[in-house]
Amino acid sequence: MQKAIFLDRDGVINKEIGDYVTSHHDFEMLKHVVPNLKKLSGAGFIFIVITNQGGIAKELYTHDELSIIHKKMNDYLAAHQLQFTEVYYCPHHPTKSNCLCRKPGSIMIEKAIAKYHINPKLSFMIGDKERDVEASQAAGVKGFLIEANEDWSYLFNKIIN
Ligand SMILES: [Mg+2]
Ligand SMILES: [Zn+2]
Repeated sequence: MQKAIFLDRDGVINKEIGDYVTSHHDFEMLKHVVPNLKKLSGAGFIFIVITNQGGIAKELYTHDELSIIHKKMNDYLAAHQLQFTEVYYCPHHPTKSNCLCRKPGSIMIEKAIAKYHINPKLSFMIGDKERDVEASQAAGVKGFLIEANEDWSYLFNKIIN
């Protein structure tokens, strides 16, 4: 069994800009992410991104643009010898259609738990919205609610023992 840190994307990994990130030009990594992930990687955690991307349903950007954005994110981590094991996203939005994957739903997290043999009791979620924490708790994973864009290294003493 593995232990994982589940991460919301906007406001946790990259800068929350107060609107949808519709282009890779608007995607800016937060500077504390690499040192924080190095620390947690050293403690044996894998990393999985769980993100709502309802802008796709609203046709503000496409799956292809999102994959360019995620390549930029993954390349940045790779340059620092880090990686996300997988990036799960929900492309739906309730104004267009209902789905089961969108957070606060827990299906994306549960999929990751099954696929990567993750022990939810040893794992954590970091998010900047109440729905991130709700999604994780529903999957049996303890969630931490942070402020958007803040350095969450203060959580280390709750995560690493
Ligand atoms: Mg967020
Ligand atoms: Zn969905």
